[in-house]
Amino acid sequence: MMNAREVKAVDLRRSNCVESNDSTHRRRGTVASEKLLYVETFGCQMNVNDSEKIVALLRKVGYHPTQDSSRADLIILNTCSVREKPEQKVYSSLCRYKGLKNRNRRLLLAVGGCVAQQEGERLLEKVPYLDIVFGTHNLHLLPEMVRQAEDGTRRAEVGFIDGDARLDLFPVEDAAGGVSRFVTIMQGCDNFCSYCIVPYVRGREVSRRSVEIVQEIGELAAKGVKEVTLLGQNVNSYGLKSAGEPDFAGLLRQVATIPGIERIRFTTSHPKDISPPLIACFAELPTLCSHIHLPAQSGSDAVLARMGRGYTRDEYLQKVAALRAARPGIQITGDMIVGFPGESEADFRDTLSLMDVVGYADLFSFKYSVRPGTSAAGFADDVDGAVKQERLARLQELQRRMTLEANKGFVGSVQEVLVEGVSKRGGQLFGRTCGNRVVNFAGDPTLVGCSVRVEITRAFQNSLLGEIRGRGTR
Ligand code: SF4
Repeated sequence: MMNAREVKAVDLRRSNCVESNDSTHRRRGTVASEKLLYVETFGCQMNVNDSEKIVALLRKVGYHPTQDSSRADLIILNTCSVREKPEQKVYSSLCRYKGLKNRNRRLLLAVGGCVAQQEGERLLEKVPYLDIVFGTHNLHLLPEMVRQAEDGTRRAEVGFIDGDARLDLFPVEDAAGGVSRFVTIMQGCDNFCSYCIVPYVRGREVSRRSVEIVQEIGELAAKGVKEVTLLGQNVNSYGLKSAGEPDFAGLLRQVATIPGIERIRFTTSHPKDISPPLIACFAELPTLCSHIHLPAQSGSDAVLARMGRGYTRDEYLQKVAALRAARPGIQITGDMIVGFPGESEADFRDTLSLMDVVGYADLFSFKYSVRPGTSAAGFADDVDGAVKQERLARLQELQRRMTLEANKGFVGSVQEVLVEGVSKRGGQLFGRTCGNRVVNFAGDPTLVGCSVRVEITRAFQNSLLGEIRGRGTR
């Protein structure tokens, strides 16, 4: 499962969609048929990437992105049902947009993603002012569904596509530029961890053809992109079901040869599928960044077994040690669930002690919530809500202290930073270290897209402050 950070609206920096261009088009009235699209994205980076594809697909039929929902002709909620909370937020967003729809009868409202996949036609029945429901395998139908909705036809499409036809679910988007871009390499998951809804709403694993991935990244590099993040629910399984395709380590080695790509990242990795060839990539590929997101979910063997994770605490720690041997200083982030059915105080302490041993750079942590249809939904949800809350608070407090301490450890060091943009506050530049720490520093905006050497002068909870000491090695 990917870390489910909520992302409001498409990340326009990454998707390179700039509203001012669109509003300029409108004011000038150069293209009478152009309409405005507002996308609200919930959940993980896969959804962010899908939202970028939605923007690219609908741009071709005259919809241009806006960050102002009140001006939109079409509002799309790209949803997440991995936990209860983001799912509830979808319904509160729909209520909010009902008011806009009452004021503008021509406004179209669509729901896509995991909640759409789960609910299907029922969603059209529950929400009478909703026009379109499209599932995780139906993005490509969206232009046609929007055209029909413009003519007053409401429609839900949530069919799964199997086999090779599903490879068409990875449309090559407009190769817009930017500094850093996501590239989907696979979709779905075969793991069926007992708490997780993903295999039910995203389907089984399918890997995209390596030749298309390499071609897309080559086009991005030609547009000036310097960093790519390879995306999938479990990238470590890439290619394993596809005859003639490389495995994930092989794919990384191909991407590392693409001229212009200075940094490669990937997410998410299932710990049980971290293979020796993948670990060797960290020793041998200098463009592979010194960061891995490796969700443990629990530090207790008993809980891991009930979660169906396929590894023990010791096996997890062995993988961490091997990664650190291959790439000293590698930054490790993770996910943890507290209050899984049957989790005792001793189990929870095992999780805290695992955090101590690993020394996570950062952690996404969540209270367990039942996801209907998963096998854990058959377990008694027997950890009291107050206990879950108290454990989450203890865990997050520990991680806050560890993250701040780790950040302080960078003070005085010189880090190579890829400059990603100009900060909104104070006119500073921002970028990330190879280990994925955000760094702010004063500098000339012409440095965006360049690597610079930055001496770290101060550490904060979520970022570092520094001063430029020269150009980077790339
Ligand atoms: S089933 Fe397990 S491996 Fe697959 S997405 Fe869910 S948590 Fe990740």
